[in-house]
Amino acid sequence: MRLHVSDDELATCVSCGLCLPHCPTFRVTGEEALSPRGRIAAIRAVHLEDAPITSEFVSFMETCVQCRGCEPACPSGVPYGHLQDGVRQSLAAQHRITPRWQRVGYSFLPRHRMLLLGSSALAVAQRLHLVPKRAGLPRLPLRRGTAVQSTGGDVWMFTGCVMDAWLRDTHRSTTKVLDHLGITYRTPGSGGGCCGALHTHAGLTDPARALAASVMASMPGDAPIVVNSAGCGAALKEYGHLLGTPEAAAFSARVKDVHEFLAEHVDRLHPTKHLGRVIVQDPCHLRHVQKAHAGVRAVLAPVAELVELDDDGVCCGAGGAYSAMQPELAGQIRDRKLEAIARAGSGVVASANPGCAMHLAAAGLVVRHPIDLLAEAL
Ligand code: SF4
Ligand code: SF4
Repeated sequence: MRLHVSDDELATCVSCGLCLPHCPTFRVTGEEALSPRGRIAAIRAVHLEDAPITSEFVSFMETCVQCRGCEPACPSGVPYGHLQDGVRQSLAAQHRITPRWQRVGYSFLPRHRMLLLGSSALAVAQRLHLVPKRAGLPRLPLRRGTAVQSTGGDVWMFTGCVMDAWLRDTHRSTTKVLDHLGITYRTPGSGGGCCGALHTHAGLTDPARALAASVMASMPGDAPIVVNSAGCGAALKEYGHLLGTPEAAAFSARVKDVHEFLAEHVDRLHPTKHLGRVIVQDPCHLRHVQKAHAGVRAVLAPVAELVELDDDGVCCGAGGAYSAMQPELAGQIRDRKLEAIARAGSGVVASANPGCAMHLAAAGLVVRHPIDLLAEAL
């Protein structure tokens, strides 16, 4: 069966295996089929040799965290993320992945009022001990305070769906830092509430494209678009590929991770407090996809003693909805990250992606967004 992948992109893999040590699922299982090379071989068999789509094939694909740690390790420049997105598009079209309940759940993400109401109900249910701990959810806020209010037009501040419903405090920290620098911001207009990252990862490409077009329309002009969720930022930076238009490519070029943006202004920050040891955890979509992880170090270095992990930036196992869909593997991958964090010694963990922060916090760690730390130090 022909999958939604490019023959040219599929041909770039030379099966050298240099990516294997960087793949979290290969590291915990040692199975070739759960490595990038093994998955690419399986994709080739289906796409080029008409092998059947078996339940094993579906499992090899579903167990991929989509962390893209294999991409920077690859000397041939295999665009693995594009291949995996395309395979998932084909599998979702056949209803082999992404069950109906998940599709219904994702359809609520762009409906922000409903998402806020649902999140409040979930927060109440948590207080009544009606949400099992294994759900891995953070303690959701009963009150989230007022939404970000626009102050001007220097930059757009993308506030997102879950990020705004669950972690609005981090938006407040972001505005505090921007206010400190005298940079004004506005929030997206109607239709700019959800980037579609989860939809893309689930193979729901058509809804993801519709959301991308809507988000682009919600932030016109040429002002930079500042994003404080690594996963959302990566998705916005890939609209050029997702939509394949010059307009989408131009939009993506305006997108900046908040740390990447602030790194250009770090000499104008005037901290009043030193935060001590901070262990930096790089979200995959900041390090491997956006390649913007240096920005976190640039903005935190003046206010903290930064501690690096020794695991070469391997994934923590969060992967958007991965920790909910593949809890066993996600837990094994996280265990390795916890060991690396333990080796780093004492200190608060800084993570710039809500999914990673929640996944690690569910294991008992104190995890904070770098911007929350920076705002505290100002
Ligand atoms: S995206 Fe991550 S989990 Fe998937 S094959 Fe690449 S390294 Fe492995
Ligand atoms: S994806 Fe890249 S690093 Fe991995 S086996 Fe193929 S060519 Fe080698």
